[in-house]
Amino acid sequence: MFEKIERVPGDAILGLIEAFKKDTNPQKVDLGVGVYRDAKGTTPVMRAVKEAEALLLKNETTKTYIGSHGAPSYGEVVLPMVLGEGSPVLEAGRASVTQSPGGTGALRLAADFVAHQLPGKGIWVSDPTWPNHHGIFTAAGIELHKYPYVDADNRLDFDGMLSALKQIPQGDVVVLHACCHNPTGFDLNQQQWQEVLKVLQERDLLPLVDFAYQGFAEGLDEDAYAVRLLAENLDNVLVTSSCSKNFGIYNERTGALIVVAKNNEEMENVRSQIAIVARENYSNPPAHGGSIVSEILHSPELEKVWREELTEMRDRINTLRRDFVDALKPYGLDEKYAHVAEQRGMFSYTGLTPEQVDRLRDEFGIYMVRSGRANVAGFSSENLEYIAKAVATVNG
Ligand code: PMP
Repeated sequence: MFEKIERVPGDAILGLIEAFKKDTNPQKVDLGVGVYRDAKGTTPVMRAVKEAEALLLKNETTKTYIGSHGAPSYGEVVLPMVLGEGSPVLEAGRASVTQSPGGTGALRLAADFVAHQLPGKGIWVSDPTWPNHHGIFTAAGIELHKYPYVDADNRLDFDGMLSALKQIPQGDVVVLHACCHNPTGFDLNQQQWQEVLKVLQERDLLPLVDFAYQGFAEGLDEDAYAVRLLAENLDNVLVTSSCSKNFGIYNERTGALIVVAKNNEEMENVRSQIAIVARENYSNPPAHGGSIVSEILHSPELEKVWREELTEMRDRINTLRRDFVDALKPYGLDEKYAHVAEQRGMFSYTGLTPEQVDRLRDEFGIYMVRSGRANVAGFSSENLEYIAKAVATVNG
C-alpha cells in the first residue's frame, strides 16, 4: 500500500534548526525560528501564565468537553481584546467568536467556511505571506491568488498592493495581516488602511484579517486599528486571532475565529455553520490555553502583570531593531538597513540576498531563512556587534 508514497523534503525552517544545533561555532546565532526569545535566548513561560495555571490546577473541577465554539468565558474576553472594549460591533451583537486550536486552527475554520458556504470565491494573499496560508487555503480547496506587497528594493509596495486589490473579482476573499506582517515586518499605516477599506467597500470584498501578533507592534489597542476599522465599517469580516505569541502559549494551541456579520440574525446563521466546520475538523478545541487566557483577563491583577510582560517583549523587539541599525553605522550601512527599525513584529525582511544568507551561515554561524527573513528576537546586546560585522562583511 505505502510502496509508492514519496518522501517530501522537510520544512526549510526545521532543516535550519537541525543545522544550527550541529554547528560548533561558539558565536552562532539563530535568527530562523518563529518564536519570541528573551535576552537569554529562551522562550520562558510568562509569569501571568504560570500564576493562572496554578489557579487552574487548584480550581479546575472537570475536563469535560467545552463545545464546538469553545469556552464562553474565553470568548467573552477575546472579543473585547480584539474588537475593543465597548465596540459598536459588540453592542450590535454582530460578532461571533469560536475558540480554535491556535491561529492556524482559526484559519482552517475560516477556509472551510469559505469553501463550503461561499463556493467559487477565490482567496488573495500577499506576496510574500506566511507560507502556511498557501497550504491551509489550498487544502480547503480554495483557489489561491497573490497580490504584491514588497517591491524590488525590499520596501512596502503599497501602490502595487492597492492597484491589485482594485482588480480582484467582486466578492473574493482578501487575506490581510493586521500587524507585524509575517514574513516581511512591513505594516500599513492608518491612512493606508483607510484606503484599503475603501477598495474593500467598492469591490465588495471579504477581508480575512490574520491577527497573530496583537500587542507585538505598538500596543494591544494600536495593533487592532485595522481589525476595528474594518469591523466597524463593513458588513462582513473574518478575523483569525492567536494567543500564541502575546501570551507565549505556543504549544497550548489557543486562538479564535471571529466572524462579523451585518446583524445579529446573520451572525447566528454563520455561527451555526462555523460550529459544523469545527466539529468536522476536531469536534472541540483544547481547553487549557483558553482557560489560561480567561483566568488572566478576568483578573485585574493578572491582567496587569500580563500587560507589563507583553510591553516588555514589544519594547525589547523594537529596541533591538534600532540597535541593529545603530550597530551598522560604523560600516556606513545604517541607511541601507534603516527599514529594519521601521518594520514591526518579530520578523524582518532584511533585504539580505540568498547568497549573503548562505555566507552568514557558512562563515559566521548566523542562521536565517534564505529569503533574508530574520527573527529580530534572536538579536541581543551580546551578539549585535558580531552580527553587524558579519552583515558588513557579506556586503563588502
Ligand atoms: N498567522 C501568521 C501570520 C503567523 O505568523 C502565525 C504563526 N507563525 C499564525 C497565523 C498561526 O499561529 P498559531 O501558532 O497560533 O497557530
